[in-house]
Amino acid sequence: MTKTEQLIAMEERYGAHNYHPLPVVLCKGEGAFVWDVEGKRYFDFLSAYSAVNQGHCHPKIVKALFDQAQTLTLTSRAFYNDVLGGFEKYMTEFFGYDRMLPMNTGAEGVETALKLARRWGVVKKNIPNDDVLIVCCEGNFHGRTLAIVSMSCDPDSYANYGPLTPGFVRIPYNDAAALEKVLSEHGSRIAGFLLEPIQGEAGVFVPDKGYLKACYDLCKKHNVLFIADEVQTGIARTGKVLACDHEDVRPDVVILGKALSGGVIPVSAVLCDDDIMLNIKPGEHGSTFGGFPLAGQVAMAALEVVKEENLCEKAEYLGNIFREEMSKCKSERIELVRGVGLLNAVVIRPKAGKEAWDVCMRMRDLGILAKPTHGDIIRFAPPLVITEEQLREAIKLIIEAIETV
Ligand SMILES: *Cc1c(COP(=O)(O)O)cnc(C)c1O
Repeated sequence: MTKTEQLIAMEERYGAHNYHPLPVVLCKGEGAFVWDVEGKRYFDFLSAYSAVNQGHCHPKIVKALFDQAQTLTLTSRAFYNDVLGGFEKYMTEFFGYDRMLPMNTGAEGVETALKLARRWGVVKKNIPNDDVLIVCCEGNFHGRTLAIVSMSCDPDSYANYGPLTPGFVRIPYNDAAALEKVLSEHGSRIAGFLLEPIQGEAGVFVPDKGYLKACYDLCKKHNVLFIADEVQTGIARTGKVLACDHEDVRPDVVILGKALSGGVIPVSAVLCDDDIMLNIKPGEHGSTFGGFPLAGQVAMAALEVVKEENLCEKAEYLGNIFREEMSKCKSERIELVRGVGLLNAVVIRPKAGKEAWDVCMRMRDLGILAKPTHGDIIRFAPPLVITEEQLREAIKLIIEAIETV
């Protein structure tokens, strides 16, 4: 057995079977590259679902982790620590909100936003506690907790997990009229509208221009919180700090995760203003690790990198090159190329029993790592630190893979 086969067999034998990874075992990363245990180098075109926007093992972020780890790692929130206040100040100034609530994973950030919205609905909008509704979208992906999968329309996510959490209404995505309808019918019971500004897991679904703004205006009209899940789209991925910036929409509540730490440790956060945040009082929500000193130092370093290395501008510039070059490829296998910034997807037309998975396997052999989502879609989201030269080299290999499968 090769080393790769041994390591995969060990996971098969001892691990839960809740993932189906591409068969490649990675042991090292640097910038836009990762290496497998056989010593082969790959372009990483997944970036851990956009957690590694700043590139693998970014020296500045790793140093922040290392320095803090030698000093103080965790206090819990039973006591104050000397990093959190500065982290909160940095975050609120960076994103322009009154306050931040730190958590660890994206799903916890979404849960926090749901709680904030429900609480605001009860306390500020006077919705009876048992009647509060949150509107969400078809095709959503917000994480894996029970409340969150209760919003999902993917049976893989929610089926056979017992009774689901009530209080959610699902409407079609990219359909402001559907939002208007539900708001005019049930507006007095609705606390918030939760959406991804671009649906990442669903296959990089980019809504029509004007959709976010229209939804935001409808929410304002009906006194409903506009809640943006920017866990995947935020932190420069789409060419702006937040994807909502493309339409100059300032969400009432923003959820961040993934690249907030540059993929170094789990850090998530919810941002909003006083009238929403301060309805949760001491003891009413929290997390042992949320806002721990390591998280603060790592996240501030990760956001500094975004500024210093102009990652927004890079994502926009390189994204245009990606879509332009990919649409030059006339292979009948490419049904569609879509995306914003460096969050892109190619829809693969199946041929002779070969599908997106086979294209990903061929790309792996050629030194490119990407993963299919929903059968026929491949997402392409390299670290934003990739250079133009590297990107052009990778595009050649991607096209070669598509043409030769
Ligand atoms: C990945 C993701 C989440 C969940 O984040 P975890 O850290 O995996 O819990 C939530 N929302 C969106 C849009 C995501 O892409």
